[in-house]
Amino acid sequence: MMKKEYQYEVGDIVTLKKPHPCGSKEWEILRVGADFRLKCIGCGHQIMIARKIVEKNTKDLKKKA
Ligand SMILES: [Zn+2]
Repeated sequence: MMKKEYQYEVGDIVTLKKPHPCGSKEWEILRVGADFRLKCIGCGHQIMIARKIVEKNTKDLKKKA
């Protein structure tokens, strides 16, 4: 089975497999690159995270409207 390829863009909402401690699994993408900046939809906490970790842990990606 082929791995699903996601096209990540600023403003998209990515759902990760593991929830943030606040309970939300959804993150808004604020910056893309070798590292992503993500903002937790649940609590607003921001993180920097390596792109490969995001790719490995993505469950869903909602494109911005
Ligand atoms: Zn959170």
